[in-house]
Parts: sequence; C-alpha cells; structure tokens
Amino acid sequence: MAPTKECDYLVIGIGSGGIASARRAAKHGAKVIAVEAKRMGGTCVNVGCVPKKVTWNAAAIAETFRDAKAYGFSGYDTPTFDWPMFKKKRDAYVKRLNGIYENNLNRDKIEHIKGRAKFVSKNEVEVALDDGGSQRVKAKHILIATGGRPMIPDIPGKELAIDSDGFFDLEQLPKRIATSGAGYIGVEMSGMLHSLGSDVHFFIRHNNLLRSFDPLIQDTVTKEYERQGVNLHKSSNITKIEDIGNGQKRVTYQDESKRESTLEVDTVLFAVGRVPEIEDLHIKDFGIRLNHKDHIVTDEYQNTNLENVYAIGDVCDRGFELTPVAIAAGRRLSDRLFGGMPDSHLEYSNIPSVVFSHPEIGSIGLTEPEAREKYGDKVKVYQTSFTAMYYAMMEPNDKGPTAYKIICVGKEEKVVGLHILGVGSSEILQGFGVAIKMGATKKDFDNCVAIHPVSAEELVTMT
Ligand code: FAD
Ligand code: NDP
Repeated sequence: MAPTKECDYLVIGIGSGGIASARRAAKHGAKVIAVEAKRMGGTCVNVGCVPKKVTWNAAAIAETFRDAKAYGFSGYDTPTFDWPMFKKKRDAYVKRLNGIYENNLNRDKIEHIKGRAKFVSKNEVEVALDDGGSQRVKAKHILIATGGRPMIPDIPGKELAIDSDGFFDLEQLPKRIATSGAGYIGVEMSGMLHSLGSDVHFFIRHNNLLRSFDPLIQDTVTKEYERQGVNLHKSSNITKIEDIGNGQKRVTYQDESKRESTLEVDTVLFAVGRVPEIEDLHIKDFGIRLNHKDHIVTDEYQNTNLENVYAIGDVCDRGFELTPVAIAAGRRLSDRLFGGMPDSHLEYSNIPSVVFSHPEIGSIGLTEPEAREKYGDKVKVYQTSFTAMYYAMMEPNDKGPTAYKIICVGKEEKVVGLHILGVGSSEILQGFGVAIKMGATKKDFDNCVAIHPVSAEELVTMT
C-alpha cells in the first residue's frame, strides 16, 4: 500500500455537491483531495439533469413539429427521430462535461483519486483503486457527498426492468414501455417517451401524479397526461415481469381491487425513488446517525454527529434532492470551514424546483394544504387556469392547460407559495423565486408592470 496521504479536506464523491465544495475549499487555500468511484460529475451530469434536459429538449421539438401544422406549416406531419444518432451525440456531450470537471479540478490543484472510499477510522479513509491497489487518506475534515442511486421494487422479474440510469443506456426508443412511479422522474421520463413516440403505459399507485405537489398541479398534470394519450393506469401496481422472448416482456399488474391483468411491452422502467449511497463507506461502523431511510442526519450546518465529518446533497437528510441544493450547501460549508465565515450555511426554505413534464411545472414554498395547516384562516389563495396564446391557432382538443396558484398569508399577503404549470414555467419560476426569497407580498407582485403578451403576466395581475 502507498504511504498515507494527508490533507485539510477530503471530499468523497465528485458529483454536484462534492466538486462545488472541493473547489470552494481550494479557493480558500485548503489542501483538498477528492475521491470518485465512477465518472466525474455524479448523477446530474451522467444520469440525471443534463442528459434528461437534452432528451426533454428533443421531446419539446417533437411537440413543436406536431403543433406546426396549426400554424400553417406542412411537411412535418410524420417527422422521424433518429434515437441512436441522438444518443451518440448526447453521450458525447456528457463525456465532454466529464473532461471539463476533471480540468476544473486540475486547475484548482485538487488531487483526485479514482476509486471507492471506505472509512477505516473517523478521520481516515481507504480508497480501493481501479487497478486493485489501495490508497489511504487522512484528513482534518471529511465531506460525504456520495449521492444516491435508484431503486427497483423487489418483485419477480425485477432484473428485467431498467431504472433511470438504464433509461440513458437505451439504444433504441422503446416502442411500448411500462413505467412506474408518480414522482419527478416517472413523470418526466413518461412524458418525454410519449412525446417522442413511445406507447407509454404509466402505472401509478394512487390516482394522481406528483402527489407531493399542490393539488392544482397534481390534478392539472394528471388530466393533461391523459388528454395527451399517455395510458395512465391509476391505483395500479406492477407485480411481476416475465421474459417472453424476442425482447418482449409480459408485465402483470394489479388494480385497486387486486384484479390481475397483463400487458406486453419491450421495456419496463421503474422510477420509484432513490436510496442514499452509504453502504460501501462503512461509516455506520463508526456510529454515524442515519434517519429511517438511511439518509445521514445533519444539522443546519451540514455537521453529522461525528466530529469533523459532514454530509451534503442526496446522501443527507435535508429533504431536497436537487443539484443546486447540493452545490449551495457544499459551497457554504467550505466558506464556513475554510473561508472565515462561521455562520455560512444553506437555508432550506423557499427552494424552487421544476418538473420537466409536458408542459413544465414550477413550484416554490408551501402547497395550499401545507399553508392552511400552518397558518389556518390567515391564508388567501389566488388561482387561475387559462389557455396560453401559444395555443391560439390549435383545435380545441389540441390545446394544453396553464394553471397558476399564488398562496399568501396575513394582512400584508406575504407570498408563501407559488405553483405554476404551463409552457415556459421552468424559465418563469427563477425570477419569481428571487422575489419570494426576498419576502415579496402580493402587492409587490401587482406593483410590477406586466409583460404582454406572455403567460407570466397573469402572475402580476391576478385578482
Ligand atoms: P451525486 O451527484 O449523485 O454524486 C455522488 C458521487 O459520489 C457519484 O459520482 C458517485 O459515484 C460517488 N460515490 C458514491 N459512493 C462513493 C464512494 N464510496 N467512494 C467514492 N465515490 C463515491 N436535480 C435538479 O436540480 N434538476 C434536475 O433537472 C434533475 N434531474 C434529475 C434527473 C434524474 C433522472 C435524476 C436521477 C436526478 C435528477 N436531479 C435533478 C437530482 C440531482 O441529479 C441530484 O440531486 C444531484 O446530482 C445530487 O448531487 P450529490 O452531489 O448529492 O450526489
Ligand atoms: P420521488 O420521490 O420524486 O418519486 C417517487 C414516487 O414513486 C413516490 O413519490 C411514490 O409516489 C412512487 N412510489 C414509491 N414507491 C413505489 C412503489 N413501490 N411502486 C410504485 N410507486 C412507488 O423519486 P424520483 O425517483 O422520481 O426522484 C428522486 C428525486 O430526484 C426527486 O425527489 C427529486 O428531488 C430529484 N429529481 C429532480 C428533478 C428535477 O429537479 N426536475 C428531476 C428528477 C429527479 P406515490 O406515493 O404517489 O405512489
């Protein structure tokens, strides 16, 4: 074994949060070593936000082709989509990003080791290197930023299914696919596949998609997916998958009354949540505190219960599995540890997020039920549903919905929640997020002169 290396800051996992924290620490002058078991960039770059958004862009273009006819274009009725070519280019883009991540580490003089880390004491890890060797690293501070991985329910034939990582390995667009999981990933992937031309059978355990979102969003997105022709199997669970040859699978599913039915598909995709990546770290052996879902328990400063060991991002218990959250928490932690900013930490409130559904959804702050539970009759809700001007030229059955809700509290009508669904929502939300984070009231919204004609003008003119 090579001699033990020593540093100020050891970062385990070069994903969204790890790299941000490592680079900020290095800028403050800390000696940093970072360890990564797989590809640079973690989930977001390799099997998450980045290839997802590129695929969503392709799906949005497919939708535009369909809409083009209503605007007088012809020749776009049956466009063909070259998935293998698209995938090759998407993979190449991700590979370029892997290289950029590596260059950034080199530029910031951060030593990076390729291998899987495990704790051998509270302040030392051993990295199992790819070549079979190992390297020990001792550090004054250790950051766990190992993210999570998708899970597949334990049902007969589960090995025949793919998860969200497998989605990005698909060499062909599935002709007919069964998807399961009513959260972010299930909704995004089912929507993209449908728009690109797959026959999507979407199995959800309850009656609505995105059940953690505001009811207006849940209802609107669920109805819209049905209107678009996604085969939504409500209150249904996939219970078995069988290989029936020729690349086909038979899926058995149960409805609410436990009645069994079957469906033949070429692909089965589960997106039913993710679990934190902690087993290989052997950190449980040193008494780290975990919650009931095995996320590492942290305080508001990202401290774990072990001295000088911290956790950020998807592996910790702060409740937001989002790239910008991991980045923000990681940078603030390094500012606190190495930048002379003793109070630096991320406030986990009013964090905006977007679902790249069809159309997009943006959400920040409390849902209406959460606000009513917290503030009772002090809550006032402004809500509107309308047809965006984009659909002006379409036939009635081809028009998509727009739905907005502003949730206010108290006499001053402070905005505590904003939920928007409709074309452009992913871009609209960021600016409103700034206003809400600054404590905007409904009057502040109304004081801003509308931009016309855009959907978002409704947000500053609602009565
Ligand atoms: P990760 O980025 O997962 O990085 C952890 C790294 O640690 C990995 O590279 C892993 O290989 C490494 N590692 C694990 N164990 C070890 C070990 N023992 N030793 C060494 N290395 C180890 N978020 C958004 O904000 N917007 C989106 O649009 C979005 N889309 C998504 C789409 C999908 C399909 C998925 C799955 C996620 C998406 N997310 C999105 C969530 C986002 O990707 C994560 O929240 C984010 O990547 C978490 O960052 P992290 O630093 O905590 O972990
Ligand atoms: P989510 O937790 O968002 O959703 C998973 C859903 O699957 C659950 O809410 C549940 O919904 C359903 N489910 C759970 N277990 C089962 C089961 N056994 N069978 C059928 N359905 C089940 O997880 P995702 O995997 O979708 O995404 C993980 C996280 O990644 C997200 O929470 C998000 O933070 C992040 N992400 C962010 C994105 C973005 O910012 N755009 C995009 C993608 C991911 P129900 O109870 O209604 O059945």
